[in-house]
Amino acid sequence: MQETGRNLIAGEWVSGISEVENRNPSDLSDVVGVFAQASADQLHDTLTAAARAQTEWAAYGMERKQGVLMAIGTELMARAEELGTLLSREEGKPLAEGKGEVFRAGQFFTYYAAECLRQLGENADSVREGVEIDVRREPVGTVAIISPWNFPTATASWKIAPALCYGNAVVWKPANITPASAVALSEIINRQDIPKGLFSLVMGSGRDIGQQLVESPMVNAISFTGSVPVGKGIASAAIQNLTKVQMEMGSKNALAVMDDADLDLAVTLALGGAFGGTGQKCTASSRLVVHEAVHDAFVEKLVAGTQAMKVGHALQEGTQMGPVVSQQQLDENLAYAALGQSEGAELACGGVRLEMPHEGFYMSPGVFLNTTNDMRINREEMFAPLTSVIKVGSYDEALSVVNDTNFGLTSGIVTTSLARATHFRRNARTGVVTVNLPTAGTDYHVPFGGRGDSSYGPREQGKAAAEFYTTVKTAYISAGPV
Ligand code: NDP
Repeated sequence: MQETGRNLIAGEWVSGISEVENRNPSDLSDVVGVFAQASADQLHDTLTAAARAQTEWAAYGMERKQGVLMAIGTELMARAEELGTLLSREEGKPLAEGKGEVFRAGQFFTYYAAECLRQLGENADSVREGVEIDVRREPVGTVAIISPWNFPTATASWKIAPALCYGNAVVWKPANITPASAVALSEIINRQDIPKGLFSLVMGSGRDIGQQLVESPMVNAISFTGSVPVGKGIASAAIQNLTKVQMEMGSKNALAVMDDADLDLAVTLALGGAFGGTGQKCTASSRLVVHEAVHDAFVEKLVAGTQAMKVGHALQEGTQMGPVVSQQQLDENLAYAALGQSEGAELACGGVRLEMPHEGFYMSPGVFLNTTNDMRINREEMFAPLTSVIKVGSYDEALSVVNDTNFGLTSGIVTTSLARATHFRRNARTGVVTVNLPTAGTDYHVPFGGRGDSSYGPREQGKAAAEFYTTVKTAYISAGPV
């Protein structure tokens, strides 16, 4: 009999109003665990405790806060193998990606541990004689964190670490499909020297407990990563209470391959960018915009590389691409494979359900050819191991196709021309731009976020995170006569 994964409410691990079973998408006979669903009363209790604990935490000395974040980060990195295995088991990404994600999550905490000591304000003279001004940042209060399943540990960590660093309380609603990783991270955080109730875990469905969380006037700020419709709904709920919001909502990223590109590099970048994480990344290369002079040679290598990819159980040695996360995601992906063909695209390979020794949500990676940028497969985020090739006649046309999207998270160019690389870097309308690098894969010490439908509110990560997790106070001081 498995122990139920419980919620962390006001500093105590408690059972919920119901339970959900979590199964391994690589092997549906493998039950990862059973997880409690939080109730509305528990949410209220934990928000009340969070407000109290936040005041206490904000008063901790900076080295004490730093020690807490450093301990969380160090433990995550030390346990990357174990927790990465758990993550891959419940989410379906290959083990190397699971371990890498947990290690990276640890780095978010160690980075923000150091930031605890780097919170400098500004000072200035007033326009009034004898008056000085001190500008400093203070915590926003209680932050609701709503995270997705595709990076269950890293996305949560890049939100939780700065939230704690800047003195806030955290109430975390993880995706209900990846609760085991959430419980594991919460156990590590809760074991530290923090006030009781500073950090809470409330598991349950987004429509239910998630919606109650974002509608609560006890929440001062909401950081969300997920889909555009849910993000818009959260923003509408937040505005009713004038709650601060920050949202990251996916994209339709393009990788432009120029006629002067190193084609082997371009294919490697395209394969990694399109099929890493089974294509379930907001930074995935889902549009490959290829110059006609190298189109045929690129396509030949791309299709061969795609067909050679080893799809299998996430924990099996040699697996390059795991299953997709759920039956719903698989159904949507297969529907997109059919849609593309009905729109006139040629599915050169893949895009079909795969039977494996274990029952799971497997499909083959697919490449669409002869596509145009107005097709739905090139406009909607599919979150699938499917990518499209769009043939263009010039660099100018490539840039215009890259920018012709409602999204704007990442874009990349593969070129040996410094002039084109420079022009692209300056004119691609995305929050992140890469040159001869994948569209996916970013650093933690610099801003992350996009434009258009991809993001809303202040940037995440690096020092930029302070904008969201703090509020500014301007103090005027008149010392009076000596
Ligand atoms: P959602 O946007 O539904 O879920 C993201 C998070 O929001 C989850 O924790 C979810 O909880 C929660 N949530 C859902 N509804 C509400 C609500 N009304 N109020 C508060 N929280 C809520 O994404 P899905 O997981 O359903 O994925 C659907 C699509 O979204 C994908 O196919 C992909 O296109 C996109 N997506 C983009 C991501 C990105 O990185 N930008 C990440 C994930 C998805 P729960 O899951 O428990 O219901």
